[in-house]
Order: sequence, then structure tokens, then C-alpha cells
Amino acid sequence: MDSLLIRNIQFLIQVREPGLSKIPGSSLSYLPTIENAFLLIEDGKISDYGAMEHAPESADQVIDATGSAVMPTFCDPHTHLVFAESREKEFVDRIKGLSYSEIAKKGGGILNSAKRLNQVPEDVLYTQAQARLEEVMRMGTGAIEIKSGYGLTVEGELKMLRVIKRLKAHAQIPVKANFLGAHAIPLEYKDDREGYIKLITEEMLPKIGESGLADYIDVFCDVGFFTPEETGVLLRAGQKYGLKPKIHANELAFSGGVQIGVAHQAVSVDHLECVGEEEIEVLKNSETIPTLLPSTAFFLGIPVPPARKMIDADLPVALASDYNPGSSPSGSMPFILSLACITLKMLPAEAINAATLNAAAALELIDSHGSITKGKTGSVIITKPIPSIAYLPYRFGSNWISSVIIGGKVFDRHQATSPGKHKNQGGLP
Ligand SMILES: [Zn+2]
Repeated sequence: MDSLLIRNIQFLIQVREPGLSKIPGSSLSYLPTIENAFLLIEDGKISDYGAMEHAPESADQVIDATGSAVMPTFCDPHTHLVFAESREKEFVDRIKGLSYSEIAKKGGGILNSAKRLNQVPEDVLYTQAQARLEEVMRMGTGAIEIKSGYGLTVEGELKMLRVIKRLKAHAQIPVKANFLGAHAIPLEYKDDREGYIKLITEEMLPKIGESGLADYIDVFCDVGFFTPEETGVLLRAGQKYGLKPKIHANELAFSGGVQIGVAHQAVSVDHLECVGEEEIEVLKNSETIPTLLPSTAFFLGIPVPPARKMIDADLPVALASDYNPGSSPSGSMPFILSLACITLKMLPAEAINAATLNAAAALELIDSHGSITKGKTGSVIITKPIPSIAYLPYRFGSNWISSVIIGGKVFDRHQATSPGKHKNQGGLP
């Protein structure tokens, strides 16, 4: 048996009994923690934890965590980390005053990414995406969702999903694939929306369904993108192939996305910058998780989602990075934690619960991830020495991670790349 013992943990964060499901808003501020603790991981799974006086004598590998916290790795249930090119030109355009919609109208935005993606060879896409995945793992992400949606052609979307499939096969963490053919209407279908929707339902979905290339279906349901009626058609078509909805909703307007997502039993509705009483009421009567992406509002300078209202309404809020080249060019979950506290006014405990347990629920991985629970995967973050838990989101932009353990093994660059490269090349970005 392969065992890893972490000793003298100052704060063992997010300790939960088995069988817990997502946490409602009213319970998010409770973060169960053991001080002066040990954690034992055997054969990749958490096998024991508790007060230091009960720690086992030895293990194959022992790490001393004096002064540090140990917490479950983050789950990131909303990313677009397969893409062909960064988009800092638009970043500069926006600094000069152009809006997201104006950039999209100029043929920039998602369509720009789609054009490049269709030109770039699959192997290149894979290598780039693998490096990004490794980067976010070093920042503490231990499970992730990745979307297609920069292909917008049959071949482009399949190419992206094949890249995600390869990431799934080779990554040491769980990867969930979300088919987002309905990310935007491609230019050539500008005057034939119905034609593009047919292309998705009649050509893309059957191919994806047959080859099991996706776990979920996504639609960008918002003003200037897809209407709630079109979203309904697409989600029903996806459900025929067993793809559950996890959708983009209410980022740019009160689009009806929340309502249509809930009506189709979406696992999550994501973004929610534009949410009022009606949307909150609809979510309250559902199992759908509201996933907030605070870095997008931060990067675009748009209003933030009303997180406090959702939490006060007892909703099981989750957090994600939205890592993508246009509106959130960072997959740093530690930064998301800070933004959740600073811009969404979430308490540190609420943010940590939302980025671990509820984020695991939004990935349908709550039985294996999101908490320190016996039997769950031994994927944890060991922090540098810290004075308190609130110190973590407080220290925005700084690297407070000492090491990341994935399935009981210390993760470093060396494991994820080909042999012969130097260990620990480069730090955090
Ligand atoms: Zn997104």
C-alpha cells in the first residue's frame, strides 16, 4: 500500500462526514476545521484524519505541515481552456473604450477565437491546453470542466472535443467535457440562425453522441447570442444523446437563461450577473446550482452577480474561473477566492465552500472531491504557513500554495510532461 502522511497541520480545512451533498446558502459560512491535525492518504484516497495525538507513527512518505493549512483542491466547474490564441488586442481595445458587444460586432470576440481554432492543428491545440491544465493544477485545481465552443463548425467542434478527450485520458485529475457548439452564431450563418441550430442538432450532436465525446451540453443564452426558445431546442436535442445541460445564462442581460436552464433540469446555470427576484425564486425551487464567475465581471468591468442575495435566499452558490482568452484569461482559483470575497462580498468560509464542495457538485463529483472525507480522492493543497484561514483570500495575487497533492502524490511539472525536463520550471504566473 502506498501511503502519505501529512503531520502537524495547523488548520485541516473542510472536514466532512461522507454522504454530504451541496451546501445551501445559509450553511455556507460554516467551514468545519480541525486544528493541529494529521491527514493520511492511502492508495490515492483519504483514509484517516484527526487530532495529531492520534496520528499514525509512520507512512511511506511523511510531510510536516507545521504552521500550514491543508484543504481539498479546488474544483473548477466552468472553463474554456482549449483555445488557439490569446486575445490581448481586444483587451487593449476595451481599455480604449470598446464594449464586449462592440468587439463581437466587429467580428472579434468568440468568432475571432473560432477562426484561429479552425486553422490550428489538433496536436498544437492539445499541447497548449495541456500546459494550461498543468498551470491550473499547480494553482490548486483538482477537477475541472472544459468546454468546446471555439470551433463553430462540425470539424472544429469535434476537434476541440477530441482534444478534451485526450486531456481526460492523460490528466491526473477528472476532466468533464461540455459541448458548447451554441457559443455564438458563426458569420456565415448570420442571416440563417435556424440553419446553424440545425447544423448543431442534426450534424454535430449525432456525431458527438455516437462517440461519447461530451458529458454536458452548453448554450450561451443571452442577448446577441441565443434566445431562450433556441436554447430550449438545443438542450432537448442534447438530452436525446444523454448530455445534461450546464449553461451560460444572464451574463449580459435578464435573458431568460436561468428559467430555461432550470426548466431543463440543468446541473448548473453559470454567470448570473443579471439576476433578480424572479430568477432567484426559480432557482430556489430547483436542484440547479448557480455558478458565479467573478473574474469575468472583474475583467470586463461589468456589474457583479448579486451573490449575497442568492446566499441569503439559501441557494447553493458555486464558484468557477471561466478561464478563457476573451473575458477571463486566468484560471487561478486562489484569485477567484479573493474576488468572491472582495467583489461578491462573500465571507472567506462561504467562498471556500463554494469553490470546493459546491463546485464539486456542479461537476457531479461530490462523491469523490470537494472535502476532506474518508474514501474521497486524496487531492489536497498544502499552504505555506498562515496565521488564519481568512488570510488565504486576503492575500490576493500572492502565491500561498506550498504544494499540491493529487491522488496522494505530490504534483509537479515533471510528472505531467515528458521525462528529461527540469523540475519546477517557472513559478506561478
Ligand atoms: Zn464561459
